[in-house]
Amino acid sequence: MPASSSAARAAVSTLSVDEALERVLSRIAPLEATEVGLLDSLGAVLTEDASADRDVPPFRNSAMDGYAVRGADVQQGGVRLHVVGAVAAGSLPDRAVGQGEAMRIMTGAPMPDGADTVVRVEDTDNGSESVTINVAAPLGIAVRQAGEDLRAGDVVLARGTWLRHADIGVLASIGRAKVNVIRRPNVAVLSTGDELVDVGEQPGPGQIRDANRHALAAAVRASGCAAFELGIARDSASDLRHALGNAAFGDLVVTSGGVSVGDHDHVKPVVDAMGQMDFWSIALRPGRPLAFGELRTKRGAVPIFGLPGNPVSALVTFELFVRPALLKMAGRTKLHRPRVKARLLDRIDKPTGLRMFARGIHDDAAGTVRSTGPQGSGILRSMSLANCLIDLPEATTAAEPGDIVVVLLTDRPEDH
Ligand code: AMP
Ligand code: MG
Repeated sequence: MPASSSAARAAVSTLSVDEALERVLSRIAPLEATEVGLLDSLGAVLTEDASADRDVPPFRNSAMDGYAVRGADVQQGGVRLHVVGAVAAGSLPDRAVGQGEAMRIMTGAPMPDGADTVVRVEDTDNGSESVTINVAAPLGIAVRQAGEDLRAGDVVLARGTWLRHADIGVLASIGRAKVNVIRRPNVAVLSTGDELVDVGEQPGPGQIRDANRHALAAAVRASGCAAFELGIARDSASDLRHALGNAAFGDLVVTSGGVSVGDHDHVKPVVDAMGQMDFWSIALRPGRPLAFGELRTKRGAVPIFGLPGNPVSALVTFELFVRPALLKMAGRTKLHRPRVKARLLDRIDKPTGLRMFARGIHDDAAGTVRSTGPQGSGILRSMSLANCLIDLPEATTAAEPGDIVVVLLTDRPEDH
């Protein structure tokens, strides 16, 4: 090993996973608020209280296709009522309903004055001049009252809400074509390595396909952020510098590879020249080396993660460090995946002194978790098979079948 590598190794601080995450999060702040079109607010965090501009529904209307009647007239089956007209959704009743009368009404149509109950068409003979009510209807049934969903002036979504698709519907119903939210982080993703070719190319001798850039860009999107790809940088300082020059347009940069202490690992020195980068050895398997720092750009400091090149290490460190950072940037307050206990079905060996996140398949109903199989940091399929990470503490040497282990549910949204 060249002398420079031993020197680099000597300077490295070893951190626990929790310490590293704390350091990362302490250097990440939420982005600013911005106004976006309604649909673009999906997955973003609201920066204002959204209140109803009017009652929803705004008027009393029918919940059924049927006949609007006076409830007092239909307290028993077999009554016959005179049909005085019809009203469809989007139009207004042209008269009131009196005693002994009924108006045909469609779902969503405004209730005529005088009527307080709707008999559904299935409970009638569907008559047009007169109608026979076959079944007694409870007073007030099948009528939606004005404001029963939302009341004018009520805050229906509070500032800080993480907007899900149903919330977009609520915002639409209160007339919000534009919404103020935290801006969606835009993340630059870069692969490094002389051995890499892109997915559309045929690998030559000694070459492999670049899996990380695609997986990491996908992980960025799955975190609700936008990803832009910076391609593959070769293992040279100049190529890296050039690629990172374009990173300045992002809110955060994620690279993979080139952060070990090999002869061709240039990420740390290059970032140091363009800003500042810490190199950490994390008591973690997989994902021991991790670099974190910032690039100085005209727009200010841009956080940068240098993830390890091994595909599993890259994705596990993304999950443990980058994803919470992105969520914090996006204004989210819950940054941690659900953690549950489960009974382990297989033996998993691990090195003592390192916390291990083994790839697992969790069965919620059975309360069990099994290993995905081989756990090497190059076995990318282990990530693809997994729905969870099995969190094995530093101090243990192995986990045995029957052990109760803690599992991070990586398919579920953060709950704390
Ligand atoms: P490094 O961290 O650059 O030393 O890379 C560690 C291992 O990960 C090596 O076997 C690399 O070939 C592999 N690797 C690095 N980057 C990628 C990538 N983008 N896609 C797939 N494998 C990679
Ligand atoms: Mg490399």
